[in-house]
Amino acid sequence: MRNDRQAYLNGQFLPEREAKISIHDLGFAYGDAVYDTARTFGGRLFKLKEHIERLYDTLRYVRIDPRLSPAEMTALTEELVERNRHLLGPDDDYWVTQRISRGVARYDGEEPEYEGPTVMIETVPLPFKSRAAYYRDGIRVATPSVRRVPPEVLSPRAKTVNYLNMTMGDLEVKARDPGAWGVLLDVNGNLCEGIGANIFLVKNGQVLTPKEDYILPGVSRRCVMDLCGELGLPLVEKDLALHDAYIADECFLTSTSLCMCPVVSVNGAKVGDGKVPGPVTKKLLDGYSRLVGLDFVAQYLKRL
Ligand code: PLP
Repeated sequence: MRNDRQAYLNGQFLPEREAKISIHDLGFAYGDAVYDTARTFGGRLFKLKEHIERLYDTLRYVRIDPRLSPAEMTALTEELVERNRHLLGPDDDYWVTQRISRGVARYDGEEPEYEGPTVMIETVPLPFKSRAAYYRDGIRVATPSVRRVPPEVLSPRAKTVNYLNMTMGDLEVKARDPGAWGVLLDVNGNLCEGIGANIFLVKNGQVLTPKEDYILPGVSRRCVMDLCGELGLPLVEKDLALHDAYIADECFLTSTSLCMCPVVSVNGAKVGDGKVPGPVTKKLLDGYSRLVGLDFVAQYLKRL
């Protein structure tokens, strides 16, 4: 469907439909690219600094020089949101993503189409409608047989466009239950992370989440950890087995788009008494809404 949004591509703002990337782009050819995604609340970017910092950490890890400073990337991102703000519907918000590939492939005897990385910034309306029921019913989590890529292979702490590992897990999960959300285990069999989301359990008043070693350190995960500190909720980062999920009182996922969303079951086993959100999750949901300055649960539920 045609839209009037603009994107940023290699030095210029232009209509999305005119933003073209080479067929020889290494991001497309080999998944040789990185990205980060922030979101807006009420049209305003949230935690952009943290997202840009993570983006530049990932760029360093994969040794791509974007030829823009973090301050320049921040300014371009803010400008794009400004340019597209008037296209937001009432109560809508944007996913805001920077994607940077290593550039285009070079072939013997041929001039490359251009030198340097491909840098793109885009905005997409958040999928409130398709996810609204998660906030009423809770998410059904399922763990596929596919394990998350371990740090010995590719650091999960880097946010690369290599999503095939998680896509394979998601295909398996969705084939069994199209409405379920896949959470991969790590190679040791511990809970790792969801498809674009981090996972938390609550047991006897303690908030538990996997350590950073095997996961992407989510910006929303950090928000929840900080909220735990503010609300006096004990927080422990540790290896968590599926057993811990089956005996947990509460469970929730965190991500930029979800913020936080309660989980109702794990592999068909009801979490706690099966009522969502549980009391600790509710406290954190309310705290999260205060933090972002908008009742994000209501923003989702409105779309039911
Ligand atoms: N884990 C993975 C693999 C992700 O790709 C993401 C975000 O897309 C997350 C976790 C959640 O991170 P954040 O809260 O920064 O969106």
